[in-house]
Amino acid sequence: MKAELGRNMVALKQSNRSQILNILRCLGPTSRKDIAKIMQLTPAAVTILVNEMISEGILKEIGQSFEEDKRVGRKKVLIDINSNFKYVLGINIETELISIGIANLKGEVISSKTIELNYNKTYRETLQEICSECITLLWKNNIIKEDVLGVGVGIIGLVDEKEGLSLRAYGLWEEKVPVVKIIEKNIGLKTVLENNVRALALSEIDNSMTEGLNNMLFIKYGPGIGASMIIDGEIYYGSSKTAGELGHTIIDLNGPKCKCGRNGCLESIASYKAILKHIKSVFSSNNTPVLYDICDGKEEKIDFNKVIQAYIIGDKYVMEYLDKTIYYFAAGISNAISLFDPQRIVLYGEAFNNEVFLNKILSSLVSLNINKNIDELIYISKQNNKTNYIGGVSLALREMFYKVGGII
Ligand SMILES: [Zn+2]
Repeated sequence: MKAELGRNMVALKQSNRSQILNILRCLGPTSRKDIAKIMQLTPAAVTILVNEMISEGILKEIGQSFEEDKRVGRKKVLIDINSNFKYVLGINIETELISIGIANLKGEVISSKTIELNYNKTYRETLQEICSECITLLWKNNIIKEDVLGVGVGIIGLVDEKEGLSLRAYGLWEEKVPVVKIIEKNIGLKTVLENNVRALALSEIDNSMTEGLNNMLFIKYGPGIGASMIIDGEIYYGSSKTAGELGHTIIDLNGPKCKCGRNGCLESIASYKAILKHIKSVFSSNNTPVLYDICDGKEEKIDFNKVIQAYIIGDKYVMEYLDKTIYYFAAGISNAISLFDPQRIVLYGEAFNNEVFLNKILSSLVSLNINKNIDELIYISKQNNKTNYIGGVSLALREMFYKVGGII
């Protein structure tokens, strides 16, 4: 009984400390008194916790502010996270590019680097190379390993985050890979792993905390279509961890065969890869004359931007096909809006930098969702594949700092 009480006390303290850190992360510098008000604790209790965290170096006092509601201005000291006290490493592994970055306790990026993937290497060699790049990056920034809380890794495909395994990563490696074990051995720091889309969704919600957001649908558009649902600030996994497979929702029963074995999945119709595959199959001076001219009659020159260019100039086939495809994509997103009713939908992907493509999706979404304010609902992510390591940064900060109430 006594031992259980002791454990409960420890858990309560950890949860209070975690709450203090999250309040400071959301609101920025805050007084002890205001923290106490939010937490519904006595100022004395908060003072004990905060002072302890200051003595550990996690928090700091940052000057004084005047209370606005008092005629006689009483000064109050503000508390903030001591952001550069410790750091985390973030790694993102995708088939197109690998990126790594160092960030402080507030997730502010200190330094980063991108690494080209060498397909001739084994998974072990690839991971070892990433680790030595991480060590060099720390060294170049004069950060010693003792000041790094750990490593967060985002990787494509299926993962077992509890066991730290990459189960299936199409285009990277075929086998089950013990990513966490290899990184921990080579860098010597605690490591956590998550699917890259889910890790990026976490970083989007963490960076929107100040706006009071706690649920969001994150959609990554690229060669495939991936998504992750965040509910109450946490990833929603579903009962077999496959929640958020927006790309594999069926949108056309008579559509093309998808890699998952079914017909007409959104990904098999509207992904970047599907669009290019179809356009290439009909490419000719008769069918697609404008695109044919733009590409000098060479199929291998077709890329997404050239397809959009042909669309803008007025290639009839490309226009009709792309209008239909984008409408399917918008329909897929609309179905997700109906199912989840999220506070925000984040669209992530380079294609959204293309104004024509983006406007077409937005206007399709407006016509499919007349009762929603699409302008307020849709947000275009500022991240790109060179900054995707921030998914790993968020993951590491959550697991090794904010959730555990500091440094343990
Ligand atoms: Zn599918």
